[in-house]
Order: sequence, then structure tokens, then C-alpha cells
Amino acid sequence: MILTTECNLQCRYCFSEALEDVDADFPDFEVDYCLPKRISYDVDSLDRFCRQDPDCVLTFYGGEPLLCIDHIKQIMDHVKVKHFLIQTNGLLLNRLEPKYVNRLHTILISIDGDEALTDFYRGKGTFRKVIDNLKLIRQNGFKGELIARMTVMEQTDVYKQVKWLLDNDEFSFSSVHWQLNAGFWNDFARRDFKEWREENYNPGVCKLVRFWVDQVENKGEVSRIYPFLGIARSLILDERQNLLRCGAGWTNYAIQTDGYIIPCPAMWGMKNYYLGHISSVNPLKLKKIFVGEPCTKCDVFNICGGRCLYANIIKRWPPEAYNLVCGTVWNLIDVTSKEMYRMRKLIENGKTNLRDFEFMKYNGCEMIP
Ligand code: SF4
Ligand code: SF4
Repeated sequence: MILTTECNLQCRYCFSEALEDVDADFPDFEVDYCLPKRISYDVDSLDRFCRQDPDCVLTFYGGEPLLCIDHIKQIMDHVKVKHFLIQTNGLLLNRLEPKYVNRLHTILISIDGDEALTDFYRGKGTFRKVIDNLKLIRQNGFKGELIARMTVMEQTDVYKQVKWLLDNDEFSFSSVHWQLNAGFWNDFARRDFKEWREENYNPGVCKLVRFWVDQVENKGEVSRIYPFLGIARSLILDERQNLLRCGAGWTNYAIQTDGYIIPCPAMWGMKNYYLGHISSVNPLKLKKIFVGEPCTKCDVFNICGGRCLYANIIKRWPPEAYNLVCGTVWNLIDVTSKEMYRMRKLIENGKTNLRDFEFMKYNGCEMIP
């Protein structure tokens, strides 16, 4: 649920992109740009909505959801769901009492890597404050999963930064996921995406997957690097995945601040995709929205699942740029597949087992960056 459209940071890939993106509107879609800044429906109607789904998992999302601490507490006190999760920049985590924090199943924390990189993207001082808050919540007894959720683009050395997040002197994460800032704005012409993809990102992912399997070989540890975890699990189990791995539009939906339901939080205000209001629809009978071409005709659709419904619909990057992004997906699948021979042997030899590849699906990790 989108608790607020407001945020207390001005990150480069969000706030600055919005400022530079002079064509940021959607000529082909009717968009409501006047959504309430905070939730405008009552908590009882949210409770009635959630109670209809025995497996309901509710993720607090924004903007920055911790700007609405009173709402979070009210919802956690009154709404019956299976689990609560939160995606937050972490700056205000110290303000939510431990009795609420400790009930969260998972916290996805926006952090891009080490201090220099995180502060470069998110603003000076962000990293230190977030790390202090993470230490505090662990000290106060939070035992759930803490996922470092990176946004990566040209200034990121993905190999170096993912490794750093997994093992450092500040605060090592046991789970890491990253999302490419690619295809979400009309920014391809002013980006160096192609060069970075070839020189850094694709080779970095290749090294990283080898490092991931080496860790299993040397220490018997399967690090929770989400993109690898999801793809490897599918390859090992020979699962076919022709539905979006983020779940958007078919099992994972977003509730706007006005109570209307949309396929994914990035699609706020896009009226053509409104799927009803929480006061009147059954969460188990929501319409399903699927990705279209080029994904449905793609050779790796059964493993990729489509990357991103939002990018697929809005098509803000031209086809040749979209192909470059898909090239990163092909590379990710290819290098992971090549390492699966080794991983299968490690499973056979008892160095690891399939339980190590389990995770809560649709927890906010898109799986395909
Ligand atoms: S690789 Fe690209 S075209 Fe193929 S399924 Fe994934 S997102 Fe769609
Ligand atoms: S990856 Fe999924 S959740 Fe993320 S923006 Fe795209 S459709 Fe939405």
C-alpha cells in the first residue's frame, strides 16, 4: 500500500530524473496527478478488504512510508493480515517503536552500496543515518529479513558494491537485491547506459555469479543475492516462469492513497489500469494484467517472466534501448545457467540443499533487475 506520495529524500534516479525529464507525462494515458498526499480511506475498509484473502501480505510503501508512522501503527493494530513488510529508505526507522518494527516480516532498505556511492545517489549523510538505524533495530530485537535494495546505474560497480554490502565493517547484509534504473524515464539519450552495460555491468554480473557459487563451494553458504536465487531455483527445479517475477498485475497489486488498486506502485494515477476500489472489490478476484510484446515473443520469456510491466507498457526507452536492457537479462540468465552445473554438483554432494534457495515470493524484490 502506498501510504504517501511524499518522500524525505531527493535521490538522483528519482527526484532529479523527474526534474530533468521534461517529457515525463504520458500522452497516451489518462493520468490522475492529483492523488491525495496521504491515505484518504479509512482503516476499516482496508481491514475488510484484507480479510477476504487468508494469505494477504501487506507492504508499506511510498513515497517514504515512515513519514506516516501513525498510520502504520494504526494499521498494524487493526488490520488482519498474514505478514507486514516495509520498503523504506530507513531514515526514520528509529522513530517506529520496537514493538512494531519487530513484527515486520521483512524490511527492504534502500541502500546502493558503500557510503560514497549511497551518498552520491541519495544525498550526503544518508548512509550513516541508515546504518545507525539498522544497528539500532537489530539491537532492539528485529529478527526478520533485512534486504539491501540497491538501485544501480552508471556510477555503480555492481560486483564491488554487492560484495561490499554482503561483507563489510559497517553493517553486513545477508540479503541483497538490485534494480537497474533503466527504461523508467525519457532519459536514454542523456545516459551512458550502453557503455556501462558493456564495460561494467554485464562483466560484473558474470564475476558476481562465479563468486556466489565459489562461496557455496568454499563455505557451504548460499548468499541471498536475490536475482541469482530466483533464477537458479527455477533452473534447478526446471520451473517455467512466464509470469512477472515481481508479481505485479497478477498476484501483487498496489493500493493508491485514494484506495484505488493498480497493478504496480509505479503505475499510480494511470486510470486505464485502475482495477477497482478497496471498498468494493474482492482481492482474490482482481483482474489480471500481463506483459505484452516483445516479452511474449522472447526466447527467454519462460525464465525472465517479463522484467517489468510498467516499462513494458510505458515504453519510455526506444526499442533499441529496450533491447540493451534485455541484453542484461540474457546475460544474467546465461551466466547463471553456466554456473548451474557446478551448483547441482554442490547440491548432490550435500554442500548445500534446495532449502537454501527458498525465499518469500513477491516480497518486493523484482528478481529480474
Ligand atoms: S529479456 Fe526482455 S523481452 Fe525477453 S522476456 Fe525479459 S524483459 Fe521481455
Ligand atoms: S518490476 Fe514489477 S513492481 Fe517493479 S516497476 Fe516493474 S512492474 Fe512494477
